[in-house]
Amino acid sequence: MGVIGELVKGLRVTGSQMFKPRVTMKYPAVFREKPERFHGRHVLNRYPDGMEKCIGCELCAGACPAHCIYVRGADNPADDPVSPGERYGFVYEINMLRCIFCALCVEACPTEAITMTHLFEMSTANREDAIYTKETLLMNEDGSVPHMFPNDRLANQDELLVADGWVRATAPSGNAAYEGVKMWQGTAGPADWDPEPSQEERDS
Ligand code: SF4
Ligand code: SF4
Repeated sequence: MGVIGELVKGLRVTGSQMFKPRVTMKYPAVFREKPERFHGRHVLNRYPDGMEKCIGCELCAGACPAHCIYVRGADNPADDPVSPGERYGFVYEINMLRCIFCALCVEACPTEAITMTHLFEMSTANREDAIYTKETLLMNEDGSVPHMFPNDRLANQDELLVADGWVRATAPSGNAAYEGVKMWQGTAGPADWDPEPSQEERDS
């Protein structure tokens, strides 16, 4: 086939594709909806009563194939416990530059403390900002996820700033009726049921 023939062949391919529906989107103006189990950035969850789920056990760090999690546990203060366990995650960091978003940390966590969100825009201008500290990872009291960059246009998109994962009923005083009870809420956030009453409330 001569040069003209090749040219016609190429133009025929172009012409046949020109009027087909687009498969690409005008990102970032348009977002493609993410699948329910999309692996975005992590969040450290709270229980419905506001306590932190992380007990500082370091199992997530041990399971991480990229060695990008650093956890240091500390004993819970007796008068003002941070988590329902004996210990809580005093220091928690994830190096997002090393993370491969495999979710093995999520699998390993015994309390469903660490889960992943639908947030995926994480570009930074320096390496330091890619180390997510507990301040960025821990969900707010209302169940929303603090955004690394408050000025980011995603910072105000509520539907993206919610945590995904398991919520387990609990209360600071514990209640045998809730032992081992797990409830799934697709997008956990602040949970939509009330925590158990405290022991004082139950006994009054
Ligand atoms: S998603 Fe995988 S690589 Fe990333 S922190 Fe969790 S275990 Fe490590
Ligand atoms: S996130 Fe889970 S696995 Fe990791 S230290 Fe906290 S409780 Fe343990």
